Amino acid sequence: MIKMHNTQCTGCTACFAICPTNAISMEPDEEGFLFPVIDENCCINCHKCDDVCPLENPWKYEYQDYCYLATSANNEELAYCSSGGVFPILARYTLNKSGIICGCILDQDCTARHVVSDDPKVVRAMSKSKYVQSDMGDCYQQTKSLLDKGRFLLFSGTPCQVGGLMSYLGREYKNLLTMDFACHGVPSPLFFKKYVTNVKAKNPHVKSFWFRNKSRGWCQSVSMTWLDEDGNEIQRIANLEDSYLKEFIENNSLRKSCPQCHFCTPQRSSDFTVGDHWNMGKSPFYNPLGVSFILFNSQKALHWLKENEDEFQTLERISLKNVGQPHFWRPYFRGKNRKQIFTALAEGKICQ
Ligand SMILES: Cc1cc2nc3c(=O)[nH]c(=O)nc-3n(C[C@H](O)[C@H](O)[C@H](O)COP(=O)(O)OP(=O)(O)OC[C@H]3O[C@@H](n4cnc5c(N)ncnc54)[C@H](O)[C@@H]3O)c2cc1C
Ligand code: SF4
Ligand code: SF4
Ligand code: SF4
Repeated sequence: MIKMHNTQCTGCTACFAICPTNAISMEPDEEGFLFPVIDENCCINCHKCDDVCPLENPWKYEYQDYCYLATSANNEELAYCSSGGVFPILARYTLNKSGIICGCILDQDCTARHVVSDDPKVVRAMSKSKYVQSDMGDCYQQTKSLLDKGRFLLFSGTPCQVGGLMSYLGREYKNLLTMDFACHGVPSPLFFKKYVTNVKAKNPHVKSFWFRNKSRGWCQSVSMTWLDEDGNEIQRIANLEDSYLKEFIENNSLRKSCPQCHFCTPQRSSDFTVGDHWNMGKSPFYNPLGVSFILFNSQKALHWLKENEDEFQTLERISLKNVGQPHFWRPYFRGKNRKQIFTALAEGKICQ
């Protein structure tokens, strides 16, 4: 039976989704991260939760020794999204096939959560990185049910969320595309909630938050922007000057599994892996609105590329060793002040 508080547990929900007796619930620990909790009265000791855990049996594709620099040809989507606009291209492709998408939104309560939708407005809200761990709810079960009915589906999430989904599904589906990204790690939802409460208490017009504002260009986009109810900018704070983003960037507010991540390797569970291709110097492929690197990990993804090259204004093959993104290759180091940050959170001393 899986153990609560395994520090390597990513909270993916595969064990929760597979349990035949609903003995598992996902509950927040004292740091605010969701972990599986077992009701032993309902457990029948079938061990399905152990077998499905992607930490034990990871689903991994072989990797190529190349990837591409990529920038979307759709400038409107490019300005809106976080990086080179790969997700909006895949999302539009899916909607055009009458498909449906599972991705992360920031809801009205400023909770990051995965939802499944074919409503273009909701799908647009999935664009943009939300730097906080998302609540997966029952999205794995919804995804499987839709796939089994033959619906075309795009799933986008952290590498551990895609790894968990593939373990749960247990097989390839022709009607599924998956996308993950180079992953810095995910901050605590409780830490973000406290930040949101403090900001709103001092600034009642603040209704939502934007973590990647490209108004000063992609290279300066990692910043915190406070938005009013119409989505207009109230204030923009540079990354290390914002108390929330600072602890994210310095690795102090992240889940314990992140420094020992099993998924931050070039061998991926997803069809597509993307990330920011920073530090481009004077490269002719630099674009002020964003350049991603993209890996096509599966035959399905390579086939997709052949049909969709026109979606990119830049698509330049490079050697994989030139991906200058540390979190693509290996997990980050544990932040020096992690303990202090979570102690302060428990004592209610976190403020903006
Ligand atoms: C927590 C986090 C850490 C990241 N760390 C890095 C990094 O270290 N290096 C790097 O190069 N890139 C990192 N990225 C990815 C990068 O910020 C871009 O999101 C990615 O390159 C896709 O850009 P895009 O323009 O194609 O898509 P966008 O249109 O911006 O779409 C963003 C996609 O990310 C998904 N998403 C957003 N927030 C979350 C979340 N909290 N959990 C799961 N899925 C989410 C959405 O569903 C959507 O599919 C990170 C993203 C997140 C959310
Ligand atoms: S052993 Fe079986 S019944 Fe028990 S929690 Fe795991 S999956 Fe559920
Ligand atoms: S399946 Fe996912 S949530 Fe369950 S124990 Fe493994 S990593 Fe944790
Ligand atoms: S660093 Fe690894 S464990 Fe942490 S959120 Fe990213 S993929 Fe999951």
